Amino acid sequence: MKKELSSNTYFVQRTEPFEGVPLGRIDKGEKCSVTGCSREAARSISTDKVKSSGLKISTTEKRAYLCKEHYKEFKKKTKKDKTLDKWRYSA
Ligand SMILES: [Zn+2]
Repeated sequence: MKKELSSNTYFVQRTEPFEGVPLGRIDKGEKCSVTGCSREAARSISTDKVKSSGLKISTTEKRAYLCKEHYKEFKKKTKKDKTLDKWRYSA
């Protein structure tokens, strides 16, 4: 593996903890990806992470969007089950 690639991966992980990407980097007007929710998205988070948190999302994209409420829920869920383990798993 190239050094560049691994440092890039590292960068992504460092700048994207489970808190996701703040609004501004995602399109304004993007809707929450959670099934049945149509609120405006506040965060963009890796679909795998959202799925592993137990939230039901309907997206085929790599990134899922969460509204404020679901983001809170996501944070609660990920805190409960030790995010670090999932990190290792997904890395
Ligand atoms: Zn939502």
